[in-house]
Amino acid sequence: KRLILIGPPGSGKGTQSPIIKDEYCLCHLATGDMLRAAVAAKTPLGIKAKEAMDKGELVSDDLVVGIIDEAVKKPSCQKGFILDGFPRTVVQAQKLDEMLDKQGVKVDKVLNFAIDDAILEERITGRWIHPSSGRTYHTKFAPPKVSGVDDVTGEPLIQRKDDTAAVLKSRLEAFHKQTEPVIDYYSKKSIVANLHAEKPPKEVTSEVEKVLS
Ligand code: ADP
Ligand code: ADP
Ligand code: ADP
Repeated sequence: KRLILIGPPGSGKGTQSPIIKDEYCLCHLATGDMLRAAVAAKTPLGIKAKEAMDKGELVSDDLVVGIIDEAVKKPSCQKGFILDGFPRTVVQAQKLDEMLDKQGVKVDKVLNFAIDDAILEERITGRWIHPSSGRTYHTKFAPPKVSGVDDVTGEPLIQRKDDTAAVLKSRLEAFHKQTEPVIDYYSKKSIVANLHAEKPPKEVTSEVEKVLS
């Protein structure tokens, strides 16, 4: 299966991804995670991306299209993939179609994590992440067994620098202006499934399973 997850920051894409990935043996490609790794490693890509990310603006289409173009060609992604956080603009969606056309494949489903903006601030400001695994916790909704520590490795959790109420505002603006049109783009192809992303994680998982069965 070739899936795209679209939704505003905090809508639950990163929480559902590992579950879907394991169930259907897909590769998980999250442009945000890849960009953060590049920023941390201070690669040329990371240096170019950092300023926009810190402000909650989108990184240029060319940079993210480049990473995805490389990633979808990997052998581990040939059986299928989950794109988490890509495409975020109509230009990115068009470029993705071109890439997949060359491989003779297409996107099967777009999962739209529909949710009201009002819920997102609490989700984002309570988010804690284990950087090396991508495991995500929440101080209120999904607390780790020991505060500030990853359940599996015992390593410290971090908060993302852009997970503040102020930067969330810009990220939401970018979502409504630049990413919502991507949902229309795929609606015209009749491959969008709308999820009730405000529900508890397990219920969202059930909705996803229903859509994919
Ligand atoms: P979220 O938790 O908001 O969904 P991500 O981890 O997907 O966040 O993205 C974090 C930041 O990385 C974005 O605010 C943006 O600056 C950048 N980014 C990630 N994916 C893309 C993309 N497809 N196009 C442009 N910028 C991106
Ligand atoms: P995204 O990847 O879309 O930005 P995340 O999956 O990282 O979002 O979720 C944002 C925060 O909200 C995390 O702290 C996560 O633990 C929590 N969360 C995710 N899904 C739900 C849900 N259905 N109900 C309540 N909290 C959730
Ligand atoms: P910086 O000091 O470079 O601005 P940040 O405060 O944004 O760094 O983040 C601290 C560290 O955690 C960085 O190395 C960053 O790449 C990493 N990081 C932040 N969020 C994530 C994430 N979701 N996944 C992986 N690494 C992350």
